[in-house]
Amino acid sequence: MTVMVPSRTPALITPGRQALDSALHQLGQAAEQLGLDDGLHTMLATPRRSLTVSVPVRREDGTMDVVQGFRVQHNVSRGPAKGGIRFHPATDIHEVTALAMWMTWKCALVGIPYGGAKGGVSVDPTVLTTRELERLTRRYVNEILPLIGPEKDIPAPDVGTDEQTMAWIMDTYSVNAGYSVPGVVTGKPMTLGGSLGRTGATSRGVQIATLSALGRSPEGVTVAVQGFGKVGALAAQYLSDAGAKIVAISDVTGAVHNSSGFDVADLRAWVAESGGVAGYRHGDAMDHAALLELDVDVLVPAALEGAITAENAPRVKARLIVEGANGPTTPEADEILAAHGTTIVPDILANAGGVIVSYLEWVQNMQAYSWSANEVEVRLRDLMEGAFAEVKSVAAARGITLRQAAHVIGVGRVAEAHQMRGLYP
Ligand code: GLU
Repeated sequence: MTVMVPSRTPALITPGRQALDSALHQLGQAAEQLGLDDGLHTMLATPRRSLTVSVPVRREDGTMDVVQGFRVQHNVSRGPAKGGIRFHPATDIHEVTALAMWMTWKCALVGIPYGGAKGGVSVDPTVLTTRELERLTRRYVNEILPLIGPEKDIPAPDVGTDEQTMAWIMDTYSVNAGYSVPGVVTGKPMTLGGSLGRTGATSRGVQIATLSALGRSPEGVTVAVQGFGKVGALAAQYLSDAGAKIVAISDVTGAVHNSSGFDVADLRAWVAESGGVAGYRHGDAMDHAALLELDVDVLVPAALEGAITAENAPRVKARLIVEGANGPTTPEADEILAAHGTTIVPDILANAGGVIVSYLEWVQNMQAYSWSANEVEVRLRDLMEGAFAEVKSVAAARGITLRQAAHVIGVGRVAEAHQMRGLYP
């Protein structure tokens, strides 16, 4: 049997298609390392279920727009499907499929009992009013209702969605069920069964991964952070709290640089007030793209896929890259950086803190119980540090990169689960 990788026309390569190509390439390398047969490789290369829906949205002026929405369940061999929902204009089915695949390996790598999923709506949430966003969210959830549920598929926040979005999802699902179902979604507000520590969980995980990778005191270590959203802002804060010097930060509005290091709390307050990092007076404006090439110890890409490519990778000077975003480094860039001796803590490890605390939230919901912030933090730290140590030792034993090792572990666990269950019928 041959491995069926969907064909493509070069002119049609979207960023989403590039992300899927990267995910398939990484899976291919892991399949080779693990000696998986072609049939199993093909199964893991294709999503289990993939739903595309049309979402009509009533605008404030009375007109109606129709946008595309997606929910992809890549794999459910190890448990219910799990993964966020993204609202972004460039989101397409390929991107959502890639992100769902990465969720499968991420959950397996950190040892939580989930498969992988992702959802997305091709829309720019920043141009919608709150009421339009609520209508859009509820209608999208209604369209994907047959797929989701606390034992089937549990959404969470991702780019362009937040705890308010999760509250609407929980409510829409619950109204349809006729009773409250907090476990259908994670990343909820505390009043609806959210977990202490979930908001900053991905960033806390990025901090833990960075400190583990540094293997020395972070005091004075220079850091550049690309992206100042849900992941980047708190990652900068936590790394700064640990003693690192955050010298550059960017977001969609621009980039700022300060070689003495930012007061991150003050910068966050500025962003909350002004809407972006641009114009922050305790730093010099700098070029967006140049931030990735700064001479710093650590680079944290915490925005979108495909930030570090074959084009800019030769100029990246950071010795350590910790991927807060999903898929920020293309396979070509990976090779260039590996040849330079750059260490990359890969996305499925570095940003796993979010889904780890999502899992803890779901466990609390299923037991109608709530843990203290400290209990959540201790469990997050254990899972992150345990996964980091495993990835490091597999990389050393096999002479491969941390990304390849993370995939060998994640893909290997899913393949094993599938083999143990057997093929039905
Ligand atoms: N969207 C986050 C991720 O990419 C979190 C997913 C979740 O908590 O289910 O890992």
